[in-house]
Amino acid sequence: MRRLLIAGNWKMHKTVEGALSLIRELKRLVSDVNHRDILVCPPFTALYAVRAELKGSNISLGAQNMFYEEEGAFTGEISPLMLRDVGCSYVILGHSERRHIFGETDELINKKVLSAVNHGLIPILCVGETLQEREDGKTKEVIERQVREGLKGLSETSEFVIAYEPVWAIGTGRTATPELAEEVHSFIRELLSEMFGAKKAESVRILYGGSVKPENAAGLLSQPNIDGSLVGGASLKADSFAKIVKFDAEG
Ligand code: PEP
Repeated sequence: MRRLLIAGNWKMHKTVEGALSLIRELKRLVSDVNHRDILVCPPFTALYAVRAELKGSNISLGAQNMFYEEEGAFTGEISPLMLRDVGCSYVILGHSERRHIFGETDELINKKVLSAVNHGLIPILCVGETLQEREDGKTKEVIERQVREGLKGLSETSEFVIAYEPVWAIGTGRTATPELAEEVHSFIRELLSEMFGAKKAESVRILYGGSVKPENAAGLLSQPNIDGSLVGGASLKADSFAKIVKFDAEG
């Protein structure tokens, strides 16, 4: 059985003080959760402080992006060594905002994914179609390209997570229906099976992201191929994120 992973992507929100007060409240609200994995991905500037606050808790730490080199003349970038140094175990890569606002390509994202794995970080590779691509009937084609290109060079022993995040559902309040999301998730699992074999495909966690809230979490997260969620807006408030973490599959 795959353990559910509920991950919060704080994006460009929270000062150090704001991050600490959010994490203190969250720790208290989810301290009794031991059957699901919980992850927070604060902005770079808060990672070090949040790491100290998370010590001994059931919440893991991740970053929202990284560059693939270890060090060098790459002004403004953050390396996998630096993320390990501040206690990250996960890193979100290829988020649609990175692809669409900052022009990240599948090729660049793949370099980052390989580097993350080589440095002992678990990449969360984000994939997802735009509204136009969905309306043009290209969803599977786009997802297949992003998954195959993004994971190129990994093997069945590499640890990674995929997040399916339809671009039209991110931060829009528009969520994919559980059935629509499940269809893409099971397509991704079939692809993983072709690429890495059925055993590996069964073990990979595929998260759904896109306007997940306490009210819609149970429907989405009860689908057989949805193994957790990448949560943006609703992860910025401890009570709404905790409610998602603690969603009740029975409704
Ligand atoms: C995200 O940032 O990955 C995301 C899914 O955002 P939101 O939950 O706000 O749609």
